[in-house]
Amino acid sequence: MSLPRKNRDDPRTSVGVSFAARLAFEHIDHAYDDKAVLDDVSLVAEAGEVLCLLGPSGSGKSTLLRIAAGIEPQQAGRVLLNDREIAGPSVFLPPEKRSIGLVFQDFALFPHLTLLDNTRFGLTELSRKDGIAEAKNALSRVGLGDKMDAYPHELSGGQQQRVALARALAPRPAVLLMDEPFSGLDSRLKDAVRAETLAILRQSRTTAIIVTHDAEEAMRIADRIALLKDGRVVQVGTAQQLYHQPVDLFTARFFSEVN
Ligand code: ADP
Ligand code: MG
Repeated sequence: MSLPRKNRDDPRTSVGVSFAARLAFEHIDHAYDDKAVLDDVSLVAEAGEVLCLLGPSGSGKSTLLRIAAGIEPQQAGRVLLNDREIAGPSVFLPPEKRSIGLVFQDFALFPHLTLLDNTRFGLTELSRKDGIAEAKNALSRVGLGDKMDAYPHELSGGQQQRVALARALAPRPAVLLMDEPFSGLDSRLKDAVRAETLAILRQSRTTAIIVTHDAEEAMRIADRIALLKDGRVVQVGTAQQLYHQPVDLFTARFFSEVN
């Protein structure tokens, strides 16, 4: 059964899934003071895929996520969601209008708010009742439906990561951005949290861009990997392509320690 057109376009309908979108960066430049940190970056995350942004510290990964989220306006180039320009020379859609969720590297949970209130924090466009319902739904989807009244400090690191994920997923974004979501976790927890996160992403039918500096992690979780160096995209492809057909020595070295 196909949905009426109006419902199909509204990501917040009762079908219970969000609609993954294609996110494209076109010729993005960015500098802090006089220091160029992104240099002509063109890159596409296809609808529904998990794209890893991989690169060493300082290569511009977080800056690119902030530009997509609308927290940082780029200095040149455009960002498109499906075919719509959301940021460009004469367009700047504010973060809350982009249908793009962001999970910060440190999770950025509010310590004085319960999980429910942390999760419904960004749902300002909904009524209180609908906001609570959507937040409960999101917490249930990440397996924390029974902990809504708890506070962040009562949770493990893996659980805190899931609250941050629930908060980002609650508005049913078309694209979810995650900045080093696993780097702060105990290494014994990492595999399990990664697997859970990927399952939640697939179920939520969102496009995901996940930042990491860990080549092995990218190989495990990504549909495709974009390798960055000094603010430029060096190579984009599947893990197999980057591992077996590196375009240069930098890529080869980056993957050389992965077994
Ligand atoms: P990554 O996430 O890959 O480590 P970033 O995007 O955080 O890279 O940073 C890219 C470069 O920009 C780094 O050299 C960093 O020091 C610099 N940088 C990042 N944020 C700022 C800022 N707010 N002001 C000045 N320089 C910054
Ligand atoms: Mg970073």
